[in-house]
Amino acid sequence: MKRILFKSGTLVDPGSGRVWQADLLVEEGRIKAIDSGMAAPRGTEVVNADGCLIFPGCVDVHVHLREPGFEYKETIATGVRAAVRGGFVAVAAMPNTRPVADSAAVVGYVRARGEEEGLARVFPVGALSRGSEGKEMAPLGEMRQAGAVAFSDDGRWLADAQLMRRVMEYARMLKAPVISHCEEPTLTKGGVMNEGITATVLGLRGMPAAAEEIAVARDIILAEFTGCHLHVAHISTAGAVRLVREAKSRGLKVTAEVTPHHFTLTEEAVQGYATCAKVNPPLRTRADVEALREALADGTIDIIATDHAPHAREEKEVEFDQAPFGISGLETAIALVFTELVHKGILNLPQAAAKLSLNPRRLLGLPGGVLAEGEPAELTLIDPEREEEVDPAAFASKGRNTPFAGWRLKGWPVGVVVRGKWIPVRPLPGEGLREI
Ligand SMILES: [Zn+2]
Repeated sequence: MKRILFKSGTLVDPGSGRVWQADLLVEEGRIKAIDSGMAAPRGTEVVNADGCLIFPGCVDVHVHLREPGFEYKETIATGVRAAVRGGFVAVAAMPNTRPVADSAAVVGYVRARGEEEGLARVFPVGALSRGSEGKEMAPLGEMRQAGAVAFSDDGRWLADAQLMRRVMEYARMLKAPVISHCEEPTLTKGGVMNEGITATVLGLRGMPAAAEEIAVARDIILAEFTGCHLHVAHISTAGAVRLVREAKSRGLKVTAEVTPHHFTLTEEAVQGYATCAKVNPPLRTRADVEALREALADGTIDIIATDHAPHAREEKEVEFDQAPFGISGLETAIALVFTELVHKGILNLPQAAAKLSLNPRRLLGLPGGVLAEGEPAELTLIDPEREEEVDPAAFASKGRNTPFAGWRLKGWPVGVVVRGKWIPVRPLPGEGLREI
């Protein structure tokens, strides 16, 4: 495997909290050396990283790759390209495919297809219940053996408390987290957006914050009861944040993720019946967005994950009530983190790197996430000053469904190192200068 030398990058290590300028040498898929003024050994690929931040490789713990079964929305091939273009070296694939990933066969298929592509790594998430129908436990042990890194019925909440208890007991034995889509379904039946003034004005049926909070509360209680690691997916309300904060203060094994759309947008993005902003959980109020940002800053929210949910154009170009939920998020996430959180002083650089790399890896039990000699060399290079307009037509994802089209964002990924390869995705900051 070849050597790659990154010259004069700004290293951001969430492990130690350090930010410093240095050269970084990659060899045999590991960080061989970190030093200043390093000479390139013969046969080394040299990348001028001056002006770039070097993060440990970013990992998205929540994506929908749609394969098998919905290849017209996305495939594993297009999904891993979208991941790399978005600055992610690995993704966890949710099991709501057709068939559902509720067996070793489907889990193994998703994993193998990811390996075949040779780009971002794909880690399958197995279902909690057969068909994610909430009735019978799925075969967690055999899925774990086939490579499942976590378990989830994402898209649905496992409402049967006794079944959730048993699943959590089993997942704990298998040392895998349970990722819960927290939505009490009787309160959200028929709902298409957040319940509140905007829904009333638009005449749309709402989904109250209470539906999420009831589910989070029950799941925290069951996590305490069983000792299972509960990970709350796409947290979106101030009340849910309070519950997670309280659970953490008591030392429970509870973590949470937030999506870029939930920390950026409010329910008002739906005005004009904008189906591109129809998402589940729904976009909430300004007070909820403020609570999410505060929770990111104080560590209550551990992870930023996209809930990448690509859909075909014709599916979203229908009446609001009929449109599917979801946003194609992989290719705008890092730019939103920089524009909305880093440049606004809500997260410092090591915190941002922790929420995009170290903490996602800890959740999934993956090594890496720190910049130190001997560590796995998965890297994400980011130009924090680059400004670019979001152009869904340029997405590698098949899903162009985004409420951020035309937004001018600052801070974009320029390339990743994964599987020992340097994959550039945008010009390096030094490149323009060299042409002059
Ligand atoms: Zn979900």
